[in-house]
Amino acid sequence: MSGPGRRVVLATRNAHKTGELRAVLAPLLPDVEVLGLDAFEDVPEVAETGVTFAENALLKARAVAAATGVPAVADDSGIAVDVLGGAPGIFSARWSGRHGDDGANLALLLAQVADVPAEHRGAAFVCAAALALPGGGEAVRTGELRGRLTSAPAGGGGFGYDPVFVPEGSSRTLAEHTAAEKNAVSHRARAFTALAPLVADALAGRPIPGAGGSEPPG
Ligand code: IMP
Repeated sequence: MSGPGRRVVLATRNAHKTGELRAVLAPLLPDVEVLGLDAFEDVPEVAETGVTFAENALLKARAVAAATGVPAVADDSGIAVDVLGGAPGIFSARWSGRHGDDGANLALLLAQVADVPAEHRGAAFVCAAALALPGGGEAVRTGELRGRLTSAPAGGGGFGYDPVFVPEGSSRTLAEHTAAEKNAVSHRARAFTALAPLVADALAGRPIPGAGGSEPPG
């Protein structure tokens, strides 16, 4: 059974991400209770003022750890398109100007690369996963999934840019993958798989290896 010291809170209000993160973390941290933000009242919205995925993930994790008194994990993620120099990057959720409008974001991105041939449509989903402890102490790990952009959306699963992204080694978009298939390879799963041992260490009262350092900017 999980006691008060065996809890973490997921610092996200995105239901898709919460579902993905619970599925990824449950087997890695089997005796840890993974709470959602809805378990707490009055957790303030966090302005994502960082300029890298890692900075934004840390901002969210720190704020939620401070507001709840519970160790917090957060992610910041997005898609980085090679031919656009890594854009949309940290602006992925608001690329079209409307935050969270997945359809408009994806349509604009496809229009921007409409003339780019298949061999130059490389892209990567990138995720920074952060842990912050209420008493101080933090760590970040990153994960990446490389692939390429399609020319038209396909598939009804996932969220965001999933319908226009085909992972390396696959012929289907991520929106045509099952949730389990996506979780086996995703940038978020990779980042949180790397972070999970640090969460286990922190909850057991052990020092976090590599805490305070950050991964390369996202
Ligand atoms: P965040 O909530 O600030 O991390 O923004 C993430 C944005 O990046 C989302 O709104 C999506 O547009 C995009 N994104 C991140 N991860 C994924 C994914 O797994 N599939 C599709 N789009 C994603």
